[in-house]
Amino acid sequence: MPRRQTQKPALSVASPATKSAGRTKAKANAAAASAGTQRAALPQAEITEIFRRFSQALPEPKGELDYVNAYTLLVAVVLSAQATDVGVNKATKTLFAIADTPAKMIDLGEEALIGHIKTIGLFRTKAKNVIALSRLLVEDHGGEVPRSREILETLPGVGRKTANVVLNIAFGLPTIAVDTHLFRVANRTGLAPGKTPLAVELGLEKVVPATYARHAHHWLILHGRYVCKAIKPACPTCLIRDICLFEDKTTA
Ligand code: SF4
Repeated sequence: MPRRQTQKPALSVASPATKSAGRTKAKANAAAASAGTQRAALPQAEITEIFRRFSQALPEPKGELDYVNAYTLLVAVVLSAQATDVGVNKATKTLFAIADTPAKMIDLGEEALIGHIKTIGLFRTKAKNVIALSRLLVEDHGGEVPRSREILETLPGVGRKTANVVLNIAFGLPTIAVDTHLFRVANRTGLAPGKTPLAVELGLEKVVPATYARHAHHWLILHGRYVCKAIKPACPTCLIRDICLFEDKTTA
């Protein structure tokens, strides 16, 4: 288990033009596309090529939340809802130094926990959830983070996305956590068009080659966060611009 995850993405370097003959650029609904809900879907060969490039550019992508074990990763992800990773890392730096297990978090208590995380949005609700999930981990799971999406989703404050992040990072499972960035990239590019995060997740599970499944969610989230941004995507320097189906690519 790595102690810390910080890594600058390298997914926006200019790539040599590559052949994409045979690809049909299906017309997408313009309004839907600008909202990040591209209708067209890419052929499998081009999907594979996208991940080949991501893999080449950033062989070992990492998330950007700091943690010291599976439990602190779970807490960090719960705290990160509607907050930035940078903001969460600032708060957890001192928190995890004194509470890196469910038992220690329970001993710390809700009020003291609030003292550490009060710079994060929704901190009162999150503090309640962290203490409650810590109790459940101690009482029902021997103080360990379960390696099961179904069980993780029974914990307070833990939804499918959080469970998928934990399963992927802490346990190395090929899960795909669809956040707003990944949702946008999957729709714009045509990798896995879908109207809901679940539709995108299930779509990606079908088309991401097994070789790339472990890191797919990191590559796509980093790509969306730093390159394929919501307001002004960096299309001119995008690694996959010749494959991407987005009709409103930027030119400068
Ligand atoms: S070409 Fe533009 S829209 Fe397509 S993935 Fe790259 S940054 Fe996003």
